[in-house]
Amino acid sequence: MVIELIFKMPEEQIMFTIRTLDCDICKRYDTIILTEEEVIAKTNATDLGIGAFYLNHDDHKRVVYFDNTGKYLGDTIVLTKEELPDNIIVEQAIKN
Ligand SMILES: [Zn+2]
Repeated sequence: MVIELIFKMPEEQIMFTIRTLDCDICKRYDTIILTEEEVIAKTNATDLGIGAFYLNHDDHKRVVYFDNTGKYLGDTIVLTKEELPDNIIVEQAIKN
């Protein structure tokens, strides 16, 4: 009897680091680290191929936009969840 052992190597994850400019309101810089999978999923979710990540700053929210290579495209500041663009997946917003 031959026992075969198959070792499955963990798939190497490509990580994207998105660094923002300073926030228009509080001057904070943000660094977002996403896996390649997350970046692709988020950019595929919109017609324009623009992904978005939502961050809470003190009394405002920042939506950071990026393309499918993880390149920072810019951001917008909103004060309430209702102002968030609806063509963008912002699952972080739901938790808050
Ligand atoms: Zn801010």
